[in-house]
Amino acid sequence: MARIALVTGGMGGLGEAVCMKLAALGYQVVTTYSPGNTKSPEWLAEMEEQGYKFHAFPCDVSDYDSAQDCIARITKELGPVDVLVNNAGITRDMTFKKMDKTNWDAVIKTNLDSVFNMTKPVCDGMTERGWGRIINISSVNGQKGAFGQTNYSAAKAGMHGFTKALALEVARKGVTVNTISPGYIGTKMVMAIPQEVLDTKIIPQIPMARLGKPEEVAGLVAYLASDEAAFLTGANIAINGGQHMY
Ligand code: NDP
Repeated sequence: MARIALVTGGMGGLGEAVCMKLAALGYQVVTTYSPGNTKSPEWLAEMEEQGYKFHAFPCDVSDYDSAQDCIARITKELGPVDVLVNNAGITRDMTFKKMDKTNWDAVIKTNLDSVFNMTKPVCDGMTERGWGRIINISSVNGQKGAFGQTNYSAAKAGMHGFTKALALEVARKGVTVNTISPGYIGTKMVMAIPQEVLDTKIIPQIPMARLGKPEEVAGLVAYLASDEAAFLTGANIAINGGQHMY
């Protein structure tokens, strides 16, 4: 039976590439979308036209109960989750001077609380079955900090603390936990930045002088999800074209 891979936020720029890659490798791919997202049937149909048969469930990853309900439905309708990719995330950028509690809370809840909310209902099953992969999509800005992103940098750095601690707890049970920290990837979100800003401010920070491709991050996710990556756990893997080395 195909392993089940759940990718949160799979209808977004990076998530879609991850869904496609895992499906191409034979996983049964499930994704989530925000309860308010009305484009899910359209996206599923578009993917089906391209030959991908994905399952999608509504889930507010920032809400504990919504996450538990979502995993319960997936488990009942399809089976237990073998690979969890915590990919859903948001930004609410502003300087700390302007940062209010609402924008702090939204980013912490969606990027960090979500990792607890989604991992909690799948982790015990993975350890009981003796196999599992938890892959947390963080950011270069969680590693180096970024102007206007105290909320996002804190959440993304917090993700890796979670990764390291949980990796220790489940290491003997066949479950690995890792973080991926992408730099600037050419998703719709980044491509919406004016070309002039990309050319003068962003690309010059990247030694490879280009944006990353979603498929490049997806390839790394696929490797971490594989049996070959069984000895790799608790790592934070940078994929940023040389923008930040540590
Ligand atoms: P997108 O904005 O394209 O996608 C984000 C996804 O997250 C959407 O599918 C969205 O679903 C989902 N999402 C947001 N809030 C919630 C919520 N409360 N509950 C459920 N789903 C939610 O972003 P990217 O694909 O670019 O980013 C994916 C991940 O990669 C994020 O964690 C981001 O921080 C990280 N990242 C991205 C980089 C980049 O350059 N693009 C660089 C470094 C890290 P919906 O539309 O249904 O709300």
